[in-house]
Amino acid sequence: MKNKSVLIIYTGGTIGMVNDPETGALCPFDFEQIARAVPEIRELGFGIDSYTLPEIIDSSDLQPGVWAELCRVIAERYDRYCGFVVLHGTDTMAYSASALSFMLGNLSKPVVFTGSQLPIGTVRTDGRENLITALEIAAAEKDGQAMVPEVCILFGAKLFRGNRTTKVDAERFDAFQSFNYPPLAEIGIHIHYNEDAIVDAPFHGGVEVFDRMDTHVAVLKLFPGIRPEIMDAVICTPGLRGLILESYGAGNAPTSDWFLARVKEAEERGIVVYNVTQCQGGSVEMGRYETSRGLIGCGVVSGYDSTIEAAVCKLMYLLACFSDVNEVKKYLNIPLKGEITPKRIGF
Ligand code: ASP
Repeated sequence: MKNKSVLIIYTGGTIGMVNDPETGALCPFDFEQIARAVPEIRELGFGIDSYTLPEIIDSSDLQPGVWAELCRVIAERYDRYCGFVVLHGTDTMAYSASALSFMLGNLSKPVVFTGSQLPIGTVRTDGRENLITALEIAAAEKDGQAMVPEVCILFGAKLFRGNRTTKVDAERFDAFQSFNYPPLAEIGIHIHYNEDAIVDAPFHGGVEVFDRMDTHVAVLKLFPGIRPEIMDAVICTPGLRGLILESYGAGNAPTSDWFLARVKEAEERGIVVYNVTQCQGGSVEMGRYETSRGLIGCGVVSGYDSTIEAAVCKLMYLLACFSDVNEVKKYLNIPLKGEITPKRIGF
């Protein structure tokens, strides 16, 4: 009898898609077909069960309700499994992994997201390796504790912290990157865990689920030539509570009066303005350049080295947790699940 088991949760995505005979487009098929395509998973030495969400989707159709559903599925079965593998489309996988990192509290077991660039039934699929490795990581233990008690993404030869990860390539098998945090593990003949980079498991207690997200957020990417009316339209969106400004470089933005006046107006309307850089690597350092000093005066919060995916999810999560803007700002500044590295600068 196998004394430990992993639960695979199937949400959809390319890993489980086939070509629609009529249109030729890729559409989802079911988990049984995945298991038939990778019979080796039955020989891994631990039990494997599967659960398919009621509606399997291409992840471009994802809505935050799916995150709540995933949290419930995990929490309801938490005691029965040593880890969880979530099969998910790659397009929004970094958002889902980020969201679950905030929504699942006191996590002591791995939640490993994976998927593939080619459907699992195809000859050159990357899905087979990804699925097998994700399962091994979900079952890995050291001294009776999970090796990786966090929400992570396994793709190709690397395991990343979920809320540090971005999809960077629509074609290559190494489709994901984590620019500002080292991999949690590297996969070759052996799986090399980077134990210094992995969080410690909590001492006790079960998993806690926070299943609400406030979607009254917007992302405004700055570009040379952005017009005041565009900013007005975003800031005046009814119900808007959080605005991510995708700034240049180290968190820089135009210094023109019309621009800063609108950022100030957003703050005065009670909208939390969060500064996240358009660069994939590096950090926002407000005040380093003259072009970001004005934002400090407007009450803008630094996103430090956050990915845009983690920033969106953290903002949705905190806005659902707190009605008080100052509380939201306070927690934006603090790493909750290792998603940012705050950096203080000396001027
Ligand atoms: N469109 C697909 C999805 O995200 C792409 C993939 O799975 O790679 O569901």
